[in-house]
Amino acid sequence: KWDDLRETLLRTVGENNFRTWIEPLRVVEVQDGIALFDVPTNFMGNYVAQNFSDAILHVLNTNGESVQRLSFQVPAEFGERTLSNTMPNPAPTVRREAPTATPARAGDAIQTAPLEPRFTFDSFVVGKPNELAHAAARRVAEGGAVTFNPLVLYGGVGLGKTHLMHAIAWELKARKPELNVLYLSAEQFMYRFVQALRERKMMDFKHLFRSVDVLMVDDVQFIAGKESTQEEFFHTFNALVDQNKQIIISADRAPGEIKELEDRVKSRLQCGLVVDLHPTDYELRLGILQSKVLQYQDSYPGLELAPGVLEFLAQRISTNVRVLEGALTRLFAFASLVGREIDMDLTQDCLADVLRAAERKITVEEIQRRVSEYYNIRLSDMVGPKRLRSFARPRQVAMYLSKQLTSRSLPEIGRRFGGRDHTTVMHGVRRIEELKQTDGQIAEDVEMLRRTLEA
Ligand code: ADP
Ligand code: MG
Repeated sequence: KWDDLRETLLRTVGENNFRTWIEPLRVVEVQDGIALFDVPTNFMGNYVAQNFSDAILHVLNTNGESVQRLSFQVPAEFGERTLSNTMPNPAPTVRREAPTATPARAGDAIQTAPLEPRFTFDSFVVGKPNELAHAAARRVAEGGAVTFNPLVLYGGVGLGKTHLMHAIAWELKARKPELNVLYLSAEQFMYRFVQALRERKMMDFKHLFRSVDVLMVDDVQFIAGKESTQEEFFHTFNALVDQNKQIIISADRAPGEIKELEDRVKSRLQCGLVVDLHPTDYELRLGILQSKVLQYQDSYPGLELAPGVLEFLAQRISTNVRVLEGALTRLFAFASLVGREIDMDLTQDCLADVLRAAERKITVEEIQRRVSEYYNIRLSDMVGPKRLRSFARPRQVAMYLSKQLTSRSLPEIGRRFGGRDHTTVMHGVRRIEELKQTDGQIAEDVEMLRRTLEA
C-alpha cells in the first residue's frame, strides 16, 4: 500500500526529492495515529520531517486513514537508535538543524569532523591482509606527484579504512602544511550539498570543493541511490581530477559491487588504484592486541597480563578490529577496577557476551556438507534435481537446519539448494517439523546433526 502512496508522493515532491528523501524510507508500522518509518540516518529523518511531513501526511490520509503524526527512527543496523517526532504542519519558518550539523557559512573553510589523533601510521599495525592498502596509503601520504587517482580503499566494517584515511591526512599535514586537505564522510558531503541547495549557495559549495588539493570521502557507498548527490559528487570528482588533485575514497565493498551507484561514478572510481582491506587473520589480530597492550600498560601501570590471553582473544574474536579493541578496553578497565590479574578466568567472565557473539557462524553450505556426510549421499545429489526419497529426505533435513541455525531467509536458502523456490524450502521445513513429532529416528538424526554443527 505504501508502494502505491509512493507513486503519489513521487508526483508531489518531484523525482529528485523523491529519490533522495522518500525512497529510502521504510514504513515500520502505523499505530494510534502515528506512522513510524525507518530512515538511514538521523539527519535524513530530520530533513524529511521538516520538509515533507505535510506531503506524506496528506497521502497517508487520502485512504481514510487518520494519521496525525510521523515518527522516524534509525534502525539498529544503521547506528544508534534514536527517535525524532514531528507534529503535523510544522511551522515552515522554524528550521531544525540536524544534531550533527555544523552550518557552513559562505566563505568559511569547510567544517568537517576533526581528525582522530589516534589514527596515525604509527599506530596502524601492518599484516598480510592490509599490507597493500597500507603501502598505497603511504605512497599517497608522501604528497609527491599524483600517480594514482583516485585511491580507493575498500573493505568490511572495522578493518581500518577510516584509520588509514586519517593517517594520510595527518601525514600530509605534517609534510606539506600548505596543502588544503579535506576529509569528510559521504554523508557529510551530502549534507553540505543539500544545505547549499536549500540556502541557494551552490556557487560557494562548488567553489569550496573545487579548491581543495586533496579530497577524501569516507564510506562513499552512502550516496548510492541518492541521485542528485551522486551527480554533484561526479562533477566535483571530475573537476578535481582535471586539475590533477588527489582524491581518496573509501567504501565498504568494491565499487563495482555497490548497487545503485551510477555506472559513470563506478567507472570513475575504478580508473584509479583500487585496493582492498581483507578480513584480519590471526597474526594481524594478535599484532594489534600486542600494540594496544603496550599503550594500555602506560595508562594502567602494574596490571598483570597472564600468558595466553591475547592469543585466546585473537583466536576467538571476529575479524572486526573495532570489536577486538573494545574487548581489550573493557578487559583492562575491569581488571584495574577489581584489582586482579588479567587471566583466562577474568577474561571469560568479563567478555562472556562478546565471546558468545563472536562464536563461529554456521553456514548453509556447511550444513549441506554435514548432512550429506551423515546420510552418506553426495553433496551434488543434495543440491541437485533428483527427487528420490533417499535424497529428498536429507535435503529437507538440511533445509530445516538451515532455517533453524542460520539467519538466511527461505528464498536465500532455496537459492543455495540448486535454485529451488522458497515454497519448496517451506514445504521441506514443515515436513521435518511434522516428522520430528512422529518419527523417532528423524528426531534423533536432526538432534544429532544440530549438536555436531553447533559444537
Ligand atoms: P573502518 O573505517 O574500516 O570501518 P576503522 O578505521 O574505523 O574501520 O577501524 C576500526 C578500529 O580498529 C579503529 O579504532 C582503528 O584504529 C582500529 N584498527 C583497524 N585496523 C587497524 C590496524 N591495522 N592497526 C591498528 N588499529 C587498527
Ligand atoms: Mg570507517
